[in-house]
Amino acid sequence: MSLYPTDLQIVEPNELQIDWSDGQVRRYLFSELREHCPCATCREKRRGDAEEPAQSLQLNILSPAETQPLRVAAMKPVGNYAYTVVFSDGHDSGIFPFELLREIGRPAE
Ligand SMILES: [Zn+2]
Repeated sequence: MSLYPTDLQIVEPNELQIDWSDGQVRRYLFSELREHCPCATCREKRRGDAEEPAQSLQLNILSPAETQPLRVAAMKPVGNYAYTVVFSDGHDSGIFPFELLREIGRPAE
C-alpha cells in the first residue's frame, strides 16, 4: 500500500479534507462518510431500507442526538491501512480502509 493520508482536517462545518501521499486532495461530507460506513450494523440498515416496501409509511421519532447535524468527532488510524471514524452521535464501529476513502468523496478544487 503506497497510498496513505498525509493530512486530515475539518475544512467546513460539515466536511472533511484528506491530503493523500500522491498529492491528491479529496473532500468528504460527513453525511457521505456515514452513508458509506462499512460496519455490519450500517450495512444491515442500508439493506433493510432498500427492502422496505414503499407503502409501509412510518414516522420515526428521532432521538435528540439524531436531530443534531452529524459531525465527525474523531478519526483514529487502524494499522496502516484504514481509519476508524467516530461520529458525533457516538457511532465508532466503522473502519474505513484507505481504498474506500479513495473511492468516495470528491477531488478538492
Ligand atoms: Zn456504521
